[in-house]
Amino acid sequence: MSKKHVENTTQSRVVPGDKIAVIEEFLPDETCFEQDGSILSMTTGEVIPDQKKHKITVKPFKRLFELKKGDTGIGRVVYVKKQIASVDIHRVNDTQVSLPVNSILHVSEASRRFVKNMYEVTRPGDWLKFKIVRTMKPVYISLIGDGLGVVIAQCNHCGTDLDFFRRNTLKCPNCGLIQDRITAKSFGKLVTSFKRSPSDETR
Ligand SMILES: [Zn+2]
Repeated sequence: MSKKHVENTTQSRVVPGDKIAVIEEFLPDETCFEQDGSILSMTTGEVIPDQKKHKITVKPFKRLFELKKGDTGIGRVVYVKKQIASVDIHRVNDTQVSLPVNSILHVSEASRRFVKNMYEVTRPGDWLKFKIVRTMKPVYISLIGDGLGVVIAQCNHCGTDLDFFRRNTLKCPNCGLIQDRITAKSFGKLVTSFKRSPSDETR
C-alpha cells in the first residue's frame, strides 16, 4: 500500500486513489477529488502543488492504450441522470488508464431486465465494472454481462461504504438504509484492495 503525501516536495508520482494532500492545504482541480478531508488523485501522473495559490493538480502521463469493443474495465460514476450515468474509466483490462476517459452508461445497457431509471442502477461515487460497447467518443459502456455491475458504493444518506444485502440490493452498516444498485458478482470483494492501491492489482 502506497500513500504518498506531498510535503513541500514539488513532484510525486501517483495513481488514481492515492492521497496527494489534505483539503486544508490545497484546492483540488478536475484531476483530483476530495474524500473525507483528503485530496485523492483521479489519474496516474505527477503531482504539481502550487503553494502560493493553494492549488494542486496531477499532470497525467500520456495515454498509452487503445480501447477495444468488449474490453472490460473499472470506472467511477461522476453523475447520474434518469437515463444516463457519466462514468470515468480508470482501468481497462486490468491496466491503469493514465488519464481517465469519460464514458456514458445508458439505462438500456444497465441490466438484462428492464430498468426504468438510472437511480436504481448506480449513484455518483460508485465504482463499476463494465464492458466497452462503443470506442469512439463519446465512449459507451454496458453493465450487461457476467460479473459486471457496481463493485463499490457509498450510502446515499451518510456516505458509509455499503454492504451486500442481496443481489441488486445493498445495506448501509451505519444508518441501515437499504438501497438499489445493479450489483456485480464481485461486489465488495474489490473494495479494500482497489481503494487502498489500485496499482497493486495490476502487478
Ligand atoms: Zn448510511
